[in-house]
Amino acid sequence: MILKGINASAGIGLGRAVCVREENLDYSAVAYAGKDVEKKRLQSAIDEFNLRTTAMANHIREQTGPKEAEILTGQITMLSDPFMLSQMNEAIDNGSCAEAAADAICSMYAEMFAGVDDELMRQRATDVRDIRARLLSILLGTTGIDLAELPAGTILVARDLTPSMTVGLNKENVAGIVTETGGRTSHSAILARALQLPAVLSIPKALELIKDGDGLIVDGSEGVVVLAPDACTRSEYLSKQKDYQEKVAALEVYRNRPTVNADGKYYHLYANIGSAADAETAAQSGAEGIGLFRTEFLFMDRTSLPDETIQYEAYHAVSKIMAGKEVIIRTLDVGGDKAIEYLGMEQEENPFLGHRAIRYCLDRPELYKVQLRALLRAGAEEKNIKIMLPLVTCVEEVRAARELLEACKKELAEANIPFDRDIALGAMIETPAAALIADLLAQECDFFSIGTNDLTQYTMAVDRGNAKVAKLYTHFQPAVLRSIRNVITAAKRANIPVGMCGEAAADPGLIPLLMCWGLDEFSVSASAILASRAQIHRWHEKDFCRITEEALSLSTASGVEGYLKATVNK
Ligand code: PEP
Ligand code: MG
Repeated sequence: MILKGINASAGIGLGRAVCVREENLDYSAVAYAGKDVEKKRLQSAIDEFNLRTTAMANHIREQTGPKEAEILTGQITMLSDPFMLSQMNEAIDNGSCAEAAADAICSMYAEMFAGVDDELMRQRATDVRDIRARLLSILLGTTGIDLAELPAGTILVARDLTPSMTVGLNKENVAGIVTETGGRTSHSAILARALQLPAVLSIPKALELIKDGDGLIVDGSEGVVVLAPDACTRSEYLSKQKDYQEKVAALEVYRNRPTVNADGKYYHLYANIGSAADAETAAQSGAEGIGLFRTEFLFMDRTSLPDETIQYEAYHAVSKIMAGKEVIIRTLDVGGDKAIEYLGMEQEENPFLGHRAIRYCLDRPELYKVQLRALLRAGAEEKNIKIMLPLVTCVEEVRAARELLEACKKELAEANIPFDRDIALGAMIETPAAALIADLLAQECDFFSIGTNDLTQYTMAVDRGNAKVAKLYTHFQPAVLRSIRNVITAAKRANIPVGMCGEAAADPGLIPLLMCWGLDEFSVSASAILASRAQIHRWHEKDFCRITEEALSLSTASGVEGYLKATVNK
């Protein structure tokens, strides 16, 4: 059976399905076995919880650091509270099974903590919810999948790929990824590309159609999944896989070359990353800097806010790995499709248009200043960090952020803590508002980076993750192209550098246009570095300017895309 989805990460993988399903924690069928039995069941579940949590804490301590491990050991302390246990036992005395007792008491505490107007208390609510889910899972015997222990040749099938799934993932054993949700620029897609694994997203009902152990082929270049392929299809795809690998190998000649066009003009070719560990891969992939560090991933993989030390260590690590090269770090881009439960953000009718990114951060200065201080300090030695603001729509936002940055500098200077006094502050241009006032923003910013993932979404009024409207979601829309051109022109006039960190920067069809308009820096996923360098190498100015003129004379996205694809593939 052929399943069609979105081609999110190139390459071809063959293997067997491992389905990651949400755990069913429904205990309504569990019968009460008497108070002694239920109390024993509860106690052994708590013992097992403590054992597993200690093992997890040890693992995290080694991998990430002591601060993260503390969150887990804190959960053990919480559950060891004799009062909490006595309340659970009392519920059992009153006729509840162990599951119902654990559920009722944990939920009561979670609600109580969530209602307190204090950040720390609200984080405790998340912890108790986590304790509840893990205790129920132990009591019901529903085992989650250990992503570190997957068999070789696994094709992961999940509703969504989340940052926490990728943390423990043993990539060597994964041949491909299939998900039910997500578009080309969704975070699942970005994570898959960072892992350099073939991925097809947005296959409706994938988890119903595919069973554990099913034979699967993932063609991440074409967006096709073959379920239960026959021998003939397998050999067809094995040969496609070989072709793809040969193409990738042929790009190796560009690894140590500078990024210049056919006339010898230099460009910066940077990588997008989501963690300090990604910076290593980026450096090995030939990146000349980091054009976008999505710091929200640092906030998403946890149950409480990363403090200044944790943040400093992550930013400092990237700064060191990239010593002598620029590192553009984007401040917390929370909200929209990036929920962070422990922040206790309210549900919104239109999260993409809501209280998110720079808007949220400016309303939480105490939280934002922790990040700004960590960034200022992390840049003290190498002086290579630049700060970038997400989702800017007006000049006031840049001014307010700059004011907070200056306040942080003052605090650090007073405390005699070293920091980078001259750190650059720039804006992501990813809303139509910012694109329209790019000339005004250029007076306030040290640099721009165009975020085409969101710029396309907001310009076209089309949800970037919704497969039903995916047809409209393309940066080849004349509206998006004009917007990009205007932003680059405004930056050139104001004499500030302008890059692009949206996924469009790696599109071979768009590259000649970006060169013609004068883009200074291309920031792409690590896996796209060499292919992008090869594209930049091939064009002379006279050719890319002719191509651009031709493309802009066309009035439809399909016309533009068709023309550019045909030209680039010649
Ligand atoms: C963008 O919007 O283009 C971008 C790079 O940011 P993100 O994909 O994280 O929204
Ligand atoms: Mg964005």
